[in-house]
Parts: sequence; structure tokens; C-alpha cells
Amino acid sequence: MANRPGGRRTTVTPKNLAEVRVEVVECDLLIIGGGNAGCFVAVEAAKQNPSLKVVIMEKAEIMRSGACSAGMDAINTYIPEDKTPEDLVRWSRDQVGGGPLREDLALSNARELNEAVDDLERWGLPILRDENGKIRYRGKWDISIHGEQLKPIMAEKAVESGAEVYNRVAGTGLLMDQGRCVGATGLHVRNGTFYVFRAKATVVSTGGAGTLYKSYTADSTNSGAQIWMCPYCVGSGYAMGFRQGAELSSLEQRWVATRTKDFCGPVDTISVGYKAPIINCKGEKVMSRYAHLGGDAAPRYIRANAPMEEWLVGRGPCYCDTRNMAPDKVTAMMTDYLNERPSFVLFLASRGQDVTKEPIEIYGSDPYILGGHTMGGFWVDIERMTTVPGLFAAGETAGGNPNKFVGGCAAEGKLAARGAIAYMKAAGPMPGPADPAFASQVEAEKSRVFAPLMRGAEYDGVTPREMKERLQRLMDEYAGGTSQFYRTNEERLDYALKHIAILQDQFKFLKAADLHELMEANETMDRVDVSEAVVHHLKARRETRWAGWQTRSDYPERDDKNFDCFVETRRDPKTGAVEAFTRPYEQIVSGERMKA
Ligand SMILES: Cc1cc2nc3c(=O)[nH]c(=O)nc-3n(C[C@H](O)[C@H](O)[C@H](O)COP(=O)(O)OP(=O)(O)OC[C@H]3O[C@@H](n4cnc5c(N)ncnc54)[C@H](O)[C@@H]3O)c2cc1C
Repeated sequence: MANRPGGRRTTVTPKNLAEVRVEVVECDLLIIGGGNAGCFVAVEAAKQNPSLKVVIMEKAEIMRSGACSAGMDAINTYIPEDKTPEDLVRWSRDQVGGGPLREDLALSNARELNEAVDDLERWGLPILRDENGKIRYRGKWDISIHGEQLKPIMAEKAVESGAEVYNRVAGTGLLMDQGRCVGATGLHVRNGTFYVFRAKATVVSTGGAGTLYKSYTADSTNSGAQIWMCPYCVGSGYAMGFRQGAELSSLEQRWVATRTKDFCGPVDTISVGYKAPIINCKGEKVMSRYAHLGGDAAPRYIRANAPMEEWLVGRGPCYCDTRNMAPDKVTAMMTDYLNERPSFVLFLASRGQDVTKEPIEIYGSDPYILGGHTMGGFWVDIERMTTVPGLFAAGETAGGNPNKFVGGCAAEGKLAARGAIAYMKAAGPMPGPADPAFASQVEAEKSRVFAPLMRGAEYDGVTPREMKERLQRLMDEYAGGTSQFYRTNEERLDYALKHIAILQDQFKFLKAADLHELMEANETMDRVDVSEAVVHHLKARRETRWAGWQTRSDYPERDDKNFDCFVETRRDPKTGAVEAFTRPYEQIVSGERMKA
């Protein structure tokens, strides 16, 4: 058991590829990304087979990494005593307007869900209960927690399970052998070691993709660090798989949420948790306009998009009206924020804002790719294996199954661990490290990853930040970002693809002055590759199914005849050509689907 500290950042950088220190690590199971799902993969793997050597490659520091790093005030899905897993799937289906969604995945996840949340409570997470010991629900499915310590609780269990954690090592690429995944490479972002993790099975759980689009909810947009999502989850997991031909599913169903303006804090805490209504600048209740679709209980994408529609027609700004909240409720709400987004409380204080006198302004977030919220991620089978044998996905990286959130990502971690263990029992032998094809693959990846550093700081090239900002504006303006009220059309998407190809061609001009910039350069290349896939998905769905999450101004209606199905993409690893195609939807859980 080892939780290897990331160490301090070194100022010494290799001057040529021969100076790069390479470390080879052999293991049974590699987990890329020690977040919510990744920690559960490790714990479950040890439970299934304590003799396995499990390694976690974590880009940040496992005790405070990923979506849960700042804490949480709720677990958004936990099945109440009088409800069934099928009921949860029906609710999830309603939240995406009747689907399509992968009901096979959703059902298997739902069956595992409560046990995963119970694990968290057994490990020390305070779940709020009433005087009779019953769990306190904040909405129909979400429960209140004191989750400030949520991430350390999960991470400690992962370390205790015996997993070896390599902190500050960012995954860069998959290692392949005759079409199957046999591990991955990683860059130690503090000391520059290039890691070669050789594994019988690999689970990618690197979270979602943020910072593909320009953010308008955060003041410090230059750094991109004040977005709602964990800023260092940039989609590297998707990019690694996409480059090796793994099939991606439903990336066009982006996650766009209403957030507190200029700070990007969560809004459900106020509007759902404390029933503060969303109002426009005239003081009108915005969701009353959507009464026929469920009003305050309308599907999530409708609630997320409603305030932005008000802006568009001239009735913005919009607010969560906290002015009628009793003082004890305000204190409770601030405590919730201290559990999940502590700096939001400071933000309000720095403005001298008394929320009982001045409502909290809200706005639409930048779009994210998040398979734990919406559906964008790898196409996986019921064992959570992607279309690349040996490569599994869990949490935000696994597509087709929305509304997983904390509990669902944890549950999926367990399912992926079991799938990976079953796979490795049947998998054939691995090539040795000296196998010429394997060794040349490692060399090629090392030179790709280190190329920006090898060009040197004086090279007359492009900095990672310059390329990132170009991409974010391109995606915002042409691929349906916030400034465009999430709308796009065929011509804009074609423009986006053309300019993404230009950026990909300009990878050869990226330069890095130090290891930190080298990490940024690799992140930016990953962002560009994921954006390419996103644009292909947006192009292929020629209808509007989830307005806001996916709005085509040239195809404004839903087209059930042609698009009640999944949109998929795959990039040919040899030619780079991207193919878009569809897969049929299968209804497994009974009930009326198309309510909204
Ligand atoms: C601000 C915020 C508030 C939320 N509030 C709630 C809530 O109240 N209730 C709820 O149920 N859900 C909530 N969610 C959703 C929930 O937290 C996520 O759905 C879930 O935790 C995601 O789990 P994951 O394991 O897929 O990703 P993460 O937990 O984000 O883990 C991804 C991990 O991968 C690592 N990583 C990234 N790139 C690399 C790389 N290249 N190499 C190695 N490692 C890498 C990251 O450092 C991270 O540790 C919230 C999310 C956010 C961002």
C-alpha cells in the first residue's frame, strides 16, 4: 500500500528525450483517475480479489481531486424505501425528455446505487437523518449530507484497500497490443518522469471534459480555473480512447446548468434545496411559463435553459429570489455552501450582499461533456467495457446513462471493477516491455508528449494558453456556447471542424517553458481532440431534442422518426477520419416516455 506524494514542482527540465526519466510499472488493474468512481473501482477490486496489484494514476492529489474535491451538500440519487430501481430509471428518462438513454446501464447502476451510498456512510460520511433515523430527502431522490470530507473519505478507503497511488501523474495515452488496451502512459507533472503502466485491464475514470468552451459565469475566465467543473478534468480520458478508435456516444447531449453569475456556484442548492423561485428582471416566476412541461419539476434541461431564454427575449437578468427566506434558512443555506462551494460564501461577503435583501443572480454555464450528468462518454457494454477490449469506463467517462452523480459514479466504479476482473481472467498474455512494437509505441508517445518542451521556451510558436483560448472561443461561437444561447447550425459546425483541423495541425508549433506548461500543452491537445468529437456529434443530430443542451437552429424540432436513437462517433487511429453513425434505442423499463 502506498500513497506516493506528488512532491514539489522541480525547476529542472529535460533538454532532450534521452534525459527524460522513464519508469515502468507492472500491475493487474490500472485506474486512470482517482476521483469518485476511481476510488470505488480500487475498493471493489480489492474486495473481489485482494491479491491483485491495483495502481491508480492520479493527475492531482487523490485526497482532494476531481468533482468532489471541494465537498458536496447532497447526494443527488438514493432510492427511497417505497421506490424501486425501475422508478429511478423512469425519473432519469424523464429528466432527458424521454430519452434515448441506455436503460440497461441505468438499471444495473440503480440496482447497485444504495449499497454504494451506504458504503460512504459506513466509511464516515454524515448523512442527515430525521429524529426517527430516516434519511432526510431534499427532493424526490436527493439526500442531504455534510460532505465537506467526502473526497478524503473515499480516497482513504482506496489507499487502505492496498491500491498504489501515483499522485501528480497525468495520463497521456493508452498502450495498445493488437487492438486491445494493455495500460497507459503518464507524465509526472512535478518531476517530469514518464510513466509506462502495463496492465491486464484498465479503467478510465478521468471525470468529464470542462474548459472546451469559454465560460461566462466566472469572472476569472483567463485561467479557466473558476468554472463549475473541476478545472483540471479536461476530457483527457475521452481523448485517449478516441485517439485509439474507442467509440464515443451521445457527446451532443452536453451538460449545461444554471449557475450563480460571476462565480459559477450551484443553483439547485438554492432553488431546489430552499425552494427559492427563479425570477426574471420583471419579478415574474420563470418556471410558470413551463407549467405544461412540469413547471419547477420540468426536466432538468428545460429548467437549465429557461433563464437563458428569458435573457434572449430581453427579460434578463434572472435571479434565485432569496428575499423571502427566513434568517435560519439563510444560515442553513450558507452552511450547505460551506460544505460544497465554500468560496461562494466569501464571494457574497466580498460584495457585501445580504441575500434577504438582494436576490442571487444566475446565468447559464458553459457546456460540459459529462457522462455522469448527461450522456456523453464512451459506449460501454453492461460490464462497462468500451469498444476497445481491456479498456473500461466508469463515472463521467462512461456514456449513455445520465443522472449518476456521486452515488451513481460510485456504483459504476464497482461494476467496472467487476467487469475488469472478469476480463483479465480470460485475457491472453501481454507483450513484454522489450517487445519491439511495444517499445516503439512507448518511444512515439514519449516524443509526442514531450515535443512542446523540446522546442524550448524561445521557440517562436504557440503557447498552450493561446491555443486553449482560441479553441474556447471557437467552440463558444460556432459549436453552441453560452454567448450563442447554445444554438448552432450546420454551417457554424463546419466552420468549427475546419478550424479544429487547423489547431490540430498547429500542435507541431506548441511550446512549453516548463513542466507545468508541458502539462497544459497536453491538456490543450486533448481538449482539441475531444472538441472534434463533440462537433461531429452536434452535426450528426439534425434535430433539437434537449434545447440548451443541444439546440440546432436549422432543425428546431424533435425528429423522433430519425433521431430517437444514439449518435456515435469513432476515429480511425490510422487515418484520423471520424465516422458518425447511430445505434438504436431499446426501452427496457415500462412506462410512458415522451411526456415533455
Ligand atoms: C461543483 C460540483 C458540485 C456537484 N454537486 C453534486 C451534489 O451535490 N450531489 C451529487 O450527487 N453530485 C454532485 N456533483 C456531481 C458529482 O460530483 C460527479 O458526477 C462525480 O463525483 C464524478 O465522479 P467521477 O469519478 O466520474 O469524476 P471525478 O470525481 O471528477 O474524478 C476524475 C478524476 O480523474 C483525475 N484526472 C483527470 N484527468 C486525468 C488524467 N489525464 N490522468 C489521471 N487522472 C486524471 C482527476 O484529478 C480526478 O481525480 C457535483 C459536481 C461538481 C463539479
